[in-house]
Amino acid sequence: MKKDRVTAIVLAGGSGSRMGADCKKQYMILGEYPLLYYSLKAFQDSPVDEIILVANEETYCRKEIIEKYGISKVKKIVPGGEERYKSVYNGLLEAKGCDYVLIHDGARPFLTQDIIGRCISQVKTVQACVVGMPVKDTIKIVDKEGYAKLTPDRNTIYMVQTPQAFSYSLILRAYEKVIKEQVTGITDDAMVVEYLQEKKVKLIEGSYQNIKITTPEDLLIARAFLQR
Ligand code: C5P
Repeated sequence: MKKDRVTAIVLAGGSGSRMGADCKKQYMILGEYPLLYYSLKAFQDSPVDEIILVANEETYCRKEIIEKYGISKVKKIVPGGEERYKSVYNGLLEAKGCDYVLIHDGARPFLTQDIIGRCISQVKTVQACVVGMPVKDTIKIVDKEGYAKLTPDRNTIYMVQTPQAFSYSLILRAYEKVIKEQVTGITDDAMVVEYLQEKKVKLIEGSYQNIKITTPEDLLIARAFLQR
């Protein structure tokens, strides 16, 4: 039987402007390595067959991360788009021929082999799954004036992380539809599949440590996780 081909798309095509630093956040040094190194290394050590990196600094990524640390599964580096979903689409176009894709934010360095393993085994069953964790705080929906309008049941609310894993043909079709119809406000890949209304997206267990480094306080938390 033919072995399924699994590709990871690692996103590092953002501006990182919310960090307010001189150097783009994906290349800031965390512990000993650039932030982007951690998720690339996790995929390198996993059963994923190849990695497509979406980043605009090709020479830097090749010299300072891929060659320096032997991340040999990176097959292509493609430029990012103006928004995250456009970067994902650029990556998807280069992933032709694979059966499943795991789309991951390069700004989430604490990706583990357990999480990657759960994504790969679940996506083969359900075709669309994303990692997430139950929220810890009570969530309020507010009106335009800032008054609480609704307090949804906390047990039904998850914060969604990456990887987000899909059958390749499903996610490509879903992206082609939102791009053709110029849908706006896309902040994750699950939304794109939800819009297609062909397959339900399953939430699977991530980790409270699988944080996205966005603002300076996230770096403090990340350093504390590393020390542990
Ligand atoms: O902006 P946000 O925090 O949602 O970005 C999540 C991930 O998507 C980051 O790893 C970032 O580099 C990537 N991204 C991208 N292209 C963009 C915007 C974000 O690859 N245009």
